Amino acid sequence: MTGFPEAARVELANVQLRTNLRNATDTIRAKRARVVTEVPDWEELREAGKAIKQDVLAHLDEYLLQFESAVEAAGGCVHWAATAADANAVVADVARGHGADEVVKVKSLTTDEIGLNDALAAAGINAIETDFAELILQLDGDWSSHILVPAIHRNRREIRDVFARTIAPGIASDDPQDLAEASRVYLRDRFLAARVGVSGANFGIAETGTVCVVESEGNGRMCTTLPPVLVTILGIEKLLPRFSDLEVFLQLLPRSATGERMNPYTSLWTGVTDGDGPEELHVVLLDNGRTRVLADRVGRQALHCIRCSACLNVCPVYSRTGGHAYGSVYPGPIGAILTPQLRGIEQAPSLPFASSLCGACYEVCPVKIDIPQVLLHLRAKAVQATAPRSERTLMAAAAWVFGGPSRFAFAQRLGRVAQRPFVRTGRLRRLPPPLSRWTRTRDLKPLPAQTFRSWWKRERR
Ligand code: SF4
Repeated sequence: MTGFPEAARVELANVQLRTNLRNATDTIRAKRARVVTEVPDWEELREAGKAIKQDVLAHLDEYLLQFESAVEAAGGCVHWAATAADANAVVADVARGHGADEVVKVKSLTTDEIGLNDALAAAGINAIETDFAELILQLDGDWSSHILVPAIHRNRREIRDVFARTIAPGIASDDPQDLAEASRVYLRDRFLAARVGVSGANFGIAETGTVCVVESEGNGRMCTTLPPVLVTILGIEKLLPRFSDLEVFLQLLPRSATGERMNPYTSLWTGVTDGDGPEELHVVLLDNGRTRVLADRVGRQALHCIRCSACLNVCPVYSRTGGHAYGSVYPGPIGAILTPQLRGIEQAPSLPFASSLCGACYEVCPVKIDIPQVLLHLRAKAVQATAPRSERTLMAAAAWVFGGPSRFAFAQRLGRVAQRPFVRTGRLRRLPPPLSRWTRTRDLKPLPAQTFRSWWKRERR
């Protein structure tokens, strides 16, 4: 992927993008702040959310098996997918098995992560996005730049132009109601004709085998109830142990996400039920790098994320560059810590540096992910993985020198002698290579004639 600094430079030149972003993130941020202060035990809720997620990760093996048994007992079928390709193959097989050359989709970051639409297209199956913003992007060959507001970088005139070119020829109005109506007319027939629906999931309940999707438009409920077959792709970290745990997350999520007191649509389904909803349910449990993240003691907290996007809306870096600069379906602070871990730090070494470390993301995160801590942890890993051999050798030598008092004292004495030719007017202004790269942009104070240690020794004597 293109490094963040290069990609950000391109995005920063887009004035329209920055205006749209500022308007949207300012509005959501203010709404969130208002509704969060209404909850007297908000901090306790955050602690509870964090504790539940820690418990899930500590016992993930048990909860996954419990979830599998519960789904199958309720008439569903569970598939295990180690990679994106495995998960995509399951969806394609199910669609083919039912003679479907078209599926309707609920907005889902997980399916974007695994490139499901492209994989289905390669198998001759057309995947139709039914979320309003996702539909806009799909029609225009664009991709998401925000977790919850995927088309945040588009304004209504641009959307009207996309619709006029594709699903609503001749549409002149850019009124939001008219645009929504145009998409409704286009999608309604597709919902009714679809034989297979595909969803991600916000939560899976180990105790009952229930799957939960929250959304704002109702398109998700159409996808999960109208087609006779439903395939749900669930990242393995999305489990909650008990049904009652939803009480915590269904308070944390909407307030943190869109500044609403509750989600307009909360859909829950457990297996299949005669005469109600899909007749066949498949749940794909997706790893795709998550167990590698779990193995990292510091980095694993990124798996607590409930994709609320609050960290994006307060991030001074995201609010200027937008999501595309992150080169992943996970933008902003959560993307900066999740993408390098899911893909491997060598694939995205610049992302942990896409932050000012101001800590605003940690302050708003509903499950208290210490994003700055993980960023620093990953920066160290990125340096380990990408620094040239000479730099690593130099750092190892420095660590050895700093590791022993006598070695350190000897190095200071040596340094005082070696620096003499380079001291000009009381500063070290130009050092020889490779240290010249440092002094090209800054100068240094020389080592003092007397160190604290030598002063101390003399005083004691
Ligand atoms: S890291 Fe926290 S604030 Fe950011 S999207 Fe995830 S849950 Fe929300």
